[in-house]
Amino acid sequence: MSTPNADWIWLDGEFIPWDQANLHILTHTLHYGLGVFEGTRAYKQEDGGTAVFRLGKHLERLERSGKILQIENTYDRDTMAAATLELIARNNLESCYLRHLVFIDAGVMGLHPKDNRIRTAIIAWPWGAYLGEDGLAKGIRCKVSSYVRHFPNSSMSKAKATGNYINSILAKREVVANGYDEAILLDTDGYVAEGSGENIFMVRDGVLKTPPLTSILEGITRETVIQLARDSDIRVEQVLSTRDELYTSDEIFLTGTAAEITPVREVDDRPVGTGTPGPVTKKLQDLYFGVIEGRRPEYRDWLSPVAFDRAA
Ligand code: PMP
Repeated sequence: MSTPNADWIWLDGEFIPWDQANLHILTHTLHYGLGVFEGTRAYKQEDGGTAVFRLGKHLERLERSGKILQIENTYDRDTMAAATLELIARNNLESCYLRHLVFIDAGVMGLHPKDNRIRTAIIAWPWGAYLGEDGLAKGIRCKVSSYVRHFPNSSMSKAKATGNYINSILAKREVVANGYDEAILLDTDGYVAEGSGENIFMVRDGVLKTPPLTSILEGITRETVIQLARDSDIRVEQVLSTRDELYTSDEIFLTGTAAEITPVREVDDRPVGTGTPGPVTKKLQDLYFGVIEGRRPEYRDWLSPVAFDRAA
């Protein structure tokens, strides 16, 4: 995977050259992992333009994460949205991944950084298929991790917090070291929770099942897929599932801004269904790509277009 790169970064209200976005080593978030962030994507549109997918929803979740963890972003949603669109234009990116990050600056050290400045960054760079083009087309191999998902009352799993990702990285490293593509984590009661950076869906007898929002992130792709499924008359149930239900599903797929809709072809060395992406997965994938690329006018409200000329 190539390292991120672009020309400009937005930091605390200003556009600065990529190489100058440097921070002090005592940046509080670096030491204790208390920061909130978003991962969002902008896509090249069928009409030749570029649009951010569900920007408003991502900025809303960023605000909610900040509220949960008491990290008050000093920039409001409209300012963040305008800065995001301008950043894409300035970097001349026809499609990209976006990272919004709200973090605690250097200042007081220790566990009560009451008056440290809250800082905000927006970064944009080109990023292809997170789990590979081959994974999107043919499906990936998953393994249930020995690491358990967050207990809901320990680290606040509804907040997209930087520190929460230690759990994800442990799980991902464990399964990749054993030759798998992605980890599936169970919750503290042993039910299926989510992937290391994705929500999970299972299909059995034409019904789509996904875990309820107890210990998992409120995924925006998850919400999108639920709506697309309902609009296509596919029944969706938000129910707890056990590990062995993964083994008897007809289809499984993971959803996320980075992973998009990635089919799972194998779990714990057992083929999922026929071992190739099934009809429900393919239908939703097709619909999703149509929506994000502006080919489905009925979902155009989810797209925020970039005005490239304004940044000249
Ligand atoms: N769960 C976790 C742990 C994640 O990191 C992500 C990626 N943000 C998701 C689910 C999917 O969320 P979204 O669809 O909003 O990207």
